[in-house]
Amino acid sequence: MKTMKKAKKILMAFAGIVIVLSCVLIPFKVTCEDNNTIVVGVPADRCPIFYIDKKSNDITGIGVDLMVYAAKKAGYNVTFKVIQEKSLKDALDNPEYDLLMPFGSAVDSSSGKASIVSDNLMQTPFTLVTKGNSILPSLNSLHVGMLSSLAAGAETVKNIYPGMEISFYENMADCVKALRNGEVDALLHNSYVWSYILQKPAYKDLSVQPAAMFSMDFRVGTLDDPKGQELIAKLNNGIGEIDDTKRQAIILDHTSRKLYQYDLSDYLYQYGMFMLAGALIAVLLAIFVIQRIRMVRKWHEQKMQQMMDHDSLTGLLSMNGFRKRVEELLHKYPDTPYFLSYNNIRDFKFINDSLGREAGDELLKFWAAKSMENLSKEYEAIGRTEGDHFVVLRRIKNDENMTDDVEKVFTPVENYFINQGKDHRVKIISGIYVLTPKDFRKIDVDHMLDLARVAERRIRDNRKSDHEFYNPEQWQKGKRIAEIINYLPSAIEAGDIQVWYQPQIDYAKKKIIGAEALCRWDHTKLGWLYPFDFISTLEEAGLIYDLDSFVWERVCQDLDRWNKQGYRRSVSVNVSRDDIQEGRDICAHFLELIHKYDLSAEQLHIEITETAYVENPAYLIETTEKLRTSGFQVEMDDFGSGYSSLHMLKDVPIDRIKLDLHFLTESGDLEKSRTIVSSMIQMINQLNMEMIAEGVETVEQADFLLSKGCYEMQGYYFHKPMPVQDLEALLEKEK
Ligand code: C2E
Ligand code: MG
Ligand code: MG
Repeated sequence: MKTMKKAKKILMAFAGIVIVLSCVLIPFKVTCEDNNTIVVGVPADRCPIFYIDKKSNDITGIGVDLMVYAAKKAGYNVTFKVIQEKSLKDALDNPEYDLLMPFGSAVDSSSGKASIVSDNLMQTPFTLVTKGNSILPSLNSLHVGMLSSLAAGAETVKNIYPGMEISFYENMADCVKALRNGEVDALLHNSYVWSYILQKPAYKDLSVQPAAMFSMDFRVGTLDDPKGQELIAKLNNGIGEIDDTKRQAIILDHTSRKLYQYDLSDYLYQYGMFMLAGALIAVLLAIFVIQRIRMVRKWHEQKMQQMMDHDSLTGLLSMNGFRKRVEELLHKYPDTPYFLSYNNIRDFKFINDSLGREAGDELLKFWAAKSMENLSKEYEAIGRTEGDHFVVLRRIKNDENMTDDVEKVFTPVENYFINQGKDHRVKIISGIYVLTPKDFRKIDVDHMLDLARVAERRIRDNRKSDHEFYNPEQWQKGKRIAEIINYLPSAIEAGDIQVWYQPQIDYAKKKIIGAEALCRWDHTKLGWLYPFDFISTLEEAGLIYDLDSFVWERVCQDLDRWNKQGYRRSVSVNVSRDDIQEGRDICAHFLELIHKYDLSAEQLHIEITETAYVENPAYLIETTEKLRTSGFQVEMDDFGSGYSSLHMLKDVPIDRIKLDLHFLTESGDLEKSRTIVSSMIQMINQLNMEMIAEGVETVEQADFLLSKGCYEMQGYYFHKPMPVQDLEALLEKEK
């Protein structure tokens, strides 16, 4: 127990000693380090005096090496810190630095504290640099540029050359700019720094002025206080130990070892053109490569698309391609009558089984080739959807359509094997769907093909015929439309379309006062056609303007002839609502015509149907106003057939109303009709508008109209529409 207590005492005593020792020794160690390591603030933008070594990232240079050597000799370790302040004078006020470099002589700090400097570490040559080899005035009257961080050194210079004017710049680039601009006569800097900087290719135009060289001291400085005085005093001992050989060795080391290092701007300056050319070539190359890649990609895409859109065996379109092409054609030719057929070889499997697959393929290729020969690529399309199923979009022309296909395609295909001496006749069956106007508005190729297929199945089931229509009535309609549309141009050319005239009468005076031009078509295939047979078809096909332009011109020719014969007559012409559309100036068209045939505008009465005003009132009213201003008489045709007859009259600027008796009397109570007609006449008269009643068929009607105040009339009761010669004969008789 005693020994235990003793050991405890010894342990506690030992711990006490350790604590005491550590309390004494640790602060001692810190003090020793503090005393021996000094922080020296230096610039870093002054190669080779002070600069950052790119490899080690340490501050180095002549100034650093000299300082390290001197400090070591004085018993100090040195840590260098890059001065962040604008000038040495500012840095003097920062207590983080023990010492600062480089000083030429002692200067006051920015806050006015005095400084103390060491002995001279080396004599630094200062040199002036000018633009080219300009001759300088004396140093005392020079305007020189210096780095603002050299402000302290500048004070020394000022002491030596009081007459010298010094301007400061933030960096060397600004100094050079000022020199080049003529702001300063020369730049002043350490010769060692010049020897480094002037290697920069962009400064080729600057030259050193060796004659204007002078020396400046290179000293260490700090605030003139006890601590500073002690540091400087000790350091001076170290400086004293730098002999000339050591000094020269350090200078040589940095001036010969430290060659100027090119930065990006130097490379750009030196090799700019090459680099630019290189970059240009690289860019062009890149563009070329990208284009090439795009082209190849596009080519691949097209190839893929081609493959998807085409059938590899026959070269015809695939289902995908056919669908696209049909959509395209129906958009492009919305007024062309078309049919779609779904064709198929009866018992094709038997051909493959008995004659071989290859023979089957050859037959399909032959069929494809024959079909292509007989097809308009611009308007029509053919595709193979699968096996022996061919789908075709063709225009309806006439009945010859079918016989043509049979002769040129089906018969050769059917005889394909027989012509090769094989005893097998091929049979093609076709289901046909005739497109309706609805199919153009909402294009659904698959649906149309389904309907064609329904017809094709009917043949398969009854085995009687080889082609069948899904909608035969539409085929008849389509054929008729085709016959009207396709024949129009040649009919105009051949004179098959004629202009007939129906006289207009003043019933009170019993005298012909004018005529309405009405067209008639002596169709090569369909015989005599009346406007109701073809006007709406031409309107739907967008061809009515062609017909009307022809009729108007013919009327003008007749008027011209009558004018020349001494009869100034006037004629009413019909204008379709489709003739009046934005982008087409029909007023200009009529003006051109009367100019061409030397007519006066009032000889042409322009009839626009009442319903047209209901559909597009604004544009029609505008056109009507234009026509009237140009002198044409505008008439509202078929008054009574539309829906807004009455109240419209106040807005529409027209000259004469054509009261259509047919619409007003065709059905219902005769008495009521009479009341309506007489009220209308009364109203039109009250509105002070002219009127003519058309469709007058009986003397009773004529007398009734007259009794109610309507004098002008047109109708079968007086005359039916007649060819121009008959009208001329009639007018001759009336004279
Ligand atoms: P519309 O302009 O109202 O022409 C009058 C129609 O009534 C004519 O028929 C005429 O023959 C017929 N008509 C005349 N008097 C009587 C009668 O007493 N009783 C009956 N039941 N009918 C009579 P058309 O020539 O067949 O013309 C029909 C329509 O076709 C015209 O109606 C007109 O809207 C249009 N039309 C005629 N020629 C042309 C033309 O060259 N261009 C345009 N765009 N349309 C025309
Ligand atoms: Mg008319
Ligand atoms: Mg009419």
